[in-house]
Amino acid sequence: MNNQFLFLGSGGSTGVPVIGCDCPVCTSKNPMDRRLRPSGLLKAQGKTFLIDVGPDFRQQALKYQIRSIDGLLLTHSHFDHIGGLDDLRAFNFLQRQKIPCLLSIETFDELKLRYHYLMREQKVGETICADLDFHLLDHDFGAVEFQGLIWDFVSFYQGEMKVTGFRWKDFAFISDINEFTEEVCDALAGVKTLVVSAAKPNEYLTARGVSKRHLTIEEAIDFAKQIGASQTWITHIGHEIDHAVVTRELPKGISLAYDGLIIEL
Ligand SMILES: [Zn+2]
Ligand SMILES: [Zn+2]
Repeated sequence: MNNQFLFLGSGGSTGVPVIGCDCPVCTSKNPMDRRLRPSGLLKAQGKTFLIDVGPDFRQQALKYQIRSIDGLLLTHSHFDHIGGLDDLRAFNFLQRQKIPCLLSIETFDELKLRYHYLMREQKVGETICADLDFHLLDHDFGAVEFQGLIWDFVSFYQGEMKVTGFRWKDFAFISDINEFTEEVCDALAGVKTLVVSAAKPNEYLTARGVSKRHLTIEEAIDFAKQIGASQTWITHIGHEIDHAVVTRELPKGISLAYDGLIIEL
């Protein structure tokens, strides 16, 4: 089986269309302007890894016929990245085992509050809620073996929230990045295929003076250039971005992702 990454969702926290919005993107006929909440499926070395599990996970799992998950990697504990955790229960039934989950200690501490009922030990065969086997990252940067693969991980911030980025070989998934140190770029040196989040274009922020929680498209382009990836896919895209319009303006090697896109690794 080839190594590949499938974008289960390329939208931001609201998804696109946004509830109640009649803007040109939310009413666009272009299928690339319909975006579920952000999440991805990495097939690597014959195993299947889910990166984040947003509130649209159930329909994503049905649409893309996901039948098994060898591991879940969580970037952070905002709702758009963990809102589908309960639906992993279906995979406990299918696989008759706990789902291994790799995450930072900070993300785990927050999960304990938001999903207190997932923390209690369940009897064999009980599975009254999703049953996860947590593997905690106790450093900001490093490498770890998880489900037979070596993962590099990096840490950065989105406001107060610590977020983890993951790298497998020359592929990296960096979501919800806003403030970061040079150490992040150093750890991503040599990445060829980069997935990075960007919510809005610069002009939208300057026009409205709204506070920034994500890289803008322009900042994501700078970030990609700094990493030196040969192909970058921008995800976590808001309704401020018309897929066809922005695609025409992007430099070579940088593209907007879309739901259902598969990239070969
Ligand atoms: Zn997010
Ligand atoms: Zn809209």
